[in-house]
Amino acid sequence: MNSMCSDELLWIDGSQGEGGGQIVRSSLGLSLVTGRPIRIDNIRAGRKKPGLMRQHLTAVNAASEVGAARISGAKIGSRALAFEPQAVTPGEYRFSVGTAGSATLVLQTVLPALLVAEGPSKLTLEGGTHNRWAPPFEFLQRAYLPLVNRMGPRVEATLERYGFYPAGGGRISVTIQPSGDLQGFDLVERGEFVRRQVRALVSNLPRHIGDREVNEIIAKMNWDGKVARVDEVDGQGPGNVVFAEIESEHVTEVFVGFGRIGARAEQVAREVVRDLRDYVKTEVPVGSYLADQLLLPLGISAWQSGSDQGERGGTFRTLPLTMHSTTHIEILRQFLGITIDVDAADDNRSVTVRVGP
Ligand code: ATP
Repeated sequence: MNSMCSDELLWIDGSQGEGGGQIVRSSLGLSLVTGRPIRIDNIRAGRKKPGLMRQHLTAVNAASEVGAARISGAKIGSRALAFEPQAVTPGEYRFSVGTAGSATLVLQTVLPALLVAEGPSKLTLEGGTHNRWAPPFEFLQRAYLPLVNRMGPRVEATLERYGFYPAGGGRISVTIQPSGDLQGFDLVERGEFVRRQVRALVSNLPRHIGDREVNEIIAKMNWDGKVARVDEVDGQGPGNVVFAEIESEHVTEVFVGFGRIGARAEQVAREVVRDLRDYVKTEVPVGSYLADQLLLPLGISAWQSGSDQGERGGTFRTLPLTMHSTTHIEILRQFLGITIDVDAADDNRSVTVRVGP
């Protein structure tokens, strides 16, 4: 393993950059992977209600269970957390957010360590499966996990029950067959379009909401209506999302709009259209959310490269970086001592990110 592996406490400033929950999740994930103890101060200082919320606390507790960690400060509202993992134990775990808090964000926290653990794991995650500001299940399954699997592990996710805000009650199961080393990959071109699909989900709401959403996306994108579908699903409460999936030769991307009180179906659809147009026009393979999430496994891959193991990590092309991504890059540099270079294209409409040892 890399010479940056250290028992020395690493101090993380939770107010840097974006100042949100991702700093907490990524730091926990990296602490588990490296075995390095951390202290995070100023947790979510950039948010209206700072400190750990229920969803973040579930992530802290999940990380603590997986890593048999000593923790202090793990309570709602806490703005400081100390976390010292002992050893990562793969196996069967059930994590429940208990509200509609995002189950996929809890997965984000523990997945990195379980990808490189010494045995397989099976996780059951309960909470929200389709939350605004979090990866929806279809993004996880269709966009993110196939790229993680390209790095060596075998991860499969199954949606067992839908969980929409505010009722929650969703359930996802995930099986993880780890690979000790994460292979790198390059994703600079997306290749030819292979397939596209527009799909709306409606739970305990009139079907016409989904019909209007898919029709709006089809019309604005000038796509064939045959690629659209509406599914009436059974969530615990009302819920609605619409997503567009673009499968290309080298990558699949998923863009989503979240139905909510006060937003007309057409407006929700147009939020998806805006993301789709940016993606299609700039010809990048990796959209903004996928970019911030790919940094973590690529960073671990780069960190694992020793002189005898050859270089890993990778390069991808994406849209100009969000604050989420730039913050994430800073955390990865601090934690892993790796190199991450970002080059803007001449027209400033895309960037190339290189993650290396
Ligand atoms: P906070 O409440 O502090 O904002 P949080 O814990 O809810 O924080 P963020 O720090 O905002 O979370 O991180 C949200 C994560 O969800 C990021 O990894 C982001 O890429 C992902 N995400 C948000 N929206 C989407 C989306 N539409 N598709 C895919 N991923 C998404």
